[in-house]
Amino acid sequence: MIPTTREQALALDAQDPLHGLRANFTLPAGVIYLDGNSLGVLPAATPARVAQVVSDEWGRDLIKSWNTAGWIELPQRVGDKIARLVGAGPGELVAADSTSVNLYKVLHAAAAIQRADHPGKTVILSERSNFPTDLYIAESLAREMGFTLALADTPEAVEQRLDERVAVLMLTQVNYRTGALHDMAALTARAHAVGALTIWDLCHSAGALPVELKACGADFAIGCGYKYLNGGPGAPAFVWVNPKHADRFWQPLSGWMGHAAPFKFTPDYQPAPGIARYLCGTPQVIGMAALECGVDSVLAAEPLGGLTALRAKSIALTEAFAALVEQRCEGHGLAVVSPREAAHRGSQVCLTRSEGAFAIVQALIARGVIGDYRQGDEQTPDILRFGFTPLYIGFAEVWDAVEQLRQVMESREWQRPEFNRRHAVT
Ligand SMILES: *Cc1c(COP(=O)(O)O)cnc(C)c1O
Repeated sequence: MIPTTREQALALDAQDPLHGLRANFTLPAGVIYLDGNSLGVLPAATPARVAQVVSDEWGRDLIKSWNTAGWIELPQRVGDKIARLVGAGPGELVAADSTSVNLYKVLHAAAAIQRADHPGKTVILSERSNFPTDLYIAESLAREMGFTLALADTPEAVEQRLDERVAVLMLTQVNYRTGALHDMAALTARAHAVGALTIWDLCHSAGALPVELKACGADFAIGCGYKYLNGGPGAPAFVWVNPKHADRFWQPLSGWMGHAAPFKFTPDYQPAPGIARYLCGTPQVIGMAALECGVDSVLAAEPLGGLTALRAKSIALTEAFAALVEQRCEGHGLAVVSPREAAHRGSQVCLTRSEGAFAIVQALIARGVIGDYRQGDEQTPDILRFGFTPLYIGFAEVWDAVEQLRQVMESREWQRPEFNRRHAVT
């Protein structure tokens, strides 16, 4: 339902069974935070938990904490919790390293499997609009292993490019720029039909929408801890490997934490069975503690319907935002570039404008409405990006954000010089 007044938006919040989850977060006053797809907000439980890890587990118990506080099991313990959010089983997923690094591990493993089983397959297929780090990692790996990186220009072109030459289909389920959502089940089936393995990047899906890795028969997945999982800046990422592939190859970063017996200190590498071999070095304990609080903040929705309920709310929020922008900001040259059909859209809405996208975002930030800007090029437009994390964003905020945008456009405030200066991080 699209609210037609602020009162109606408030009424939608009052009826929303998930609205109370907002109290589990520290949201700064006077801010409407529509950037949880880039950095999730601080869960209320995190500061005390991190302080405890620092002062008690590290400060007092020191090295004993590897055992007494379970530090050594953190990648698996946090991994098992994330597994519940992405349709994976216990013992199949670990929290570790960064998304970029985990992508390198799984892409290498997938390529090694294909090189052994189907040496004629030498193409890694992805999308030109995929997040650049994914493409950079694939580019370097393709070079190193003698594969070719092929890039589809549109989501529809992905299917057309899937042929017998494709060894690995590497996609991000929700496009970071447009919010376009791929059909994981259908594309995985199409990939398997031509003998390709699939790698799904879940950076913009984990914690935002139901993901069914195992039910889809996916082969590999990776994802981010600091976006919808609220793990904090630079939080550890995660990696999942379908159990049928997990023992087939060493992943290339064969560090001691992926060894079958790290504390035997043998000079030769013997990979651990299962997903543990996808670990590399010592877990980032403090970051992992914050990530666990973040994942718990998503799991807190389980008694209220979990990701199915969160997804329904996310659709309602994004639907309302897109419709209100079109109604209330009409005539200001703003266009919605995210897919309008909910089944094809993640938890974000992107707008574009022929001029001023960056400055409009800056003017909104000055008014306390935080979204972000993503620069375009010859083929893709400049984008104003707004993420809606259903755990802590409500309908009144959608209403207020659109009202602020309307005022920024109406007053031409965005044309002021201070909103047109660029910073290092956009
Ligand atoms: C956010 C994001 C990343 C981030 O990778 P890091 O290694 O954490 O810097 C990678 N891929 C996609 C698709 C993302 O959205």
